[in-house]
Amino acid sequence: MRPIPPVAPRRRGLLAGALGAALLPAFARGVSAAGPILGTRPADWYRTRFGEFEVTVVGDGDLDLGAPAAGFPAHPRDDLTQLLRANFRSTEKLVIPQNCFVVNTGRQLVLFDTGVGYTRPFGPHTGMLLANLRAAGIMPEQIDAVVCSHGHIDHVWGIIGGDGKPNFPNAQVFISKADFDFWTDEARGRTDGWVGTFVQGARRNLLPVRDRITFVEDGKEVMPGIIAVSAPGHTVGHTAFALQSGNAKAMFIGDLAHHDVIMLRRPQIEFAYDTDSRQSAQSRLRLLRMLAQERIGILSYHFPFPGLGYVAAEGEGFGWYPLPWGVNL
Ligand SMILES: [Zn+2]
Repeated sequence: MRPIPPVAPRRRGLLAGALGAALLPAFARGVSAAGPILGTRPADWYRTRFGEFEVTVVGDGDLDLGAPAAGFPAHPRDDLTQLLRANFRSTEKLVIPQNCFVVNTGRQLVLFDTGVGYTRPFGPHTGMLLANLRAAGIMPEQIDAVVCSHGHIDHVWGIIGGDGKPNFPNAQVFISKADFDFWTDEARGRTDGWVGTFVQGARRNLLPVRDRITFVEDGKEVMPGIIAVSAPGHTVGHTAFALQSGNAKAMFIGDLAHHDVIMLRRPQIEFAYDTDSRQSAQSRLRLLRMLAQERIGILSYHFPFPGLGYVAAEGEGFGWYPLPWGVNL
């Protein structure tokens, strides 16, 4: 007869038995994994079809906006906390991604917005566009057009590299004249605070390519399949872009909404970095209602990566329905 092995004290619940052993950290099990914990982050890029077009989402990294109340100082804190908690998001700080979109129309390779650029003002996990673009198999010199929603730090600061030369040497640049004028204008003492910082950065990135800039206009075609849609408020010339290929319709909404929970559930909310918050809310409601009603796809710069999905009208605001992995827009 074999000796009876000593009985180990039983662990309760989930950690009991073989499953529990698998869940225990290696040191507790007394064994080692075949490889180390890597802790590396995969390249942020994703690809889908859109009609005849191909859309590649390329991340520029995460913007840490700090405490939620800092972004929405006029809004009741309790409501922000409740909204974030109900959606399993951090109530301590807001971190939003930057999703740049490369749309291959078959004729042109078009990049929508450019991230924060080489100075990485939001830390080492920002300014990743060029690295992620290459990881996605796209070379900067292949980009034919850079289309900018507006002149803010996280949208135009990736136009010029640390050497003072354009990151996309063969690209035309598209932006509204209102935003170009506003964010390159040093006059009237606009050199202080965050506005001053934004103005300096916009000048550093937009003035060297001034002779390649075409100003976009509301309702006018930027190129075949891409139409500018004025959506002012966040900035004076903030612009969304309607995309169409065959029967497929979508809109690159830029900064129409920065957060998929707070700004969709409370679309009237005022964001700290808006030039005109009331006007921004009007633009947000007008376009989101249309996108919901007509079930048009969305390419969102700041919603969770890869920022592709749909909105539906719900209550006083909207719900966000991300596109499932592998499904075409
Ligand atoms: Zn932004």
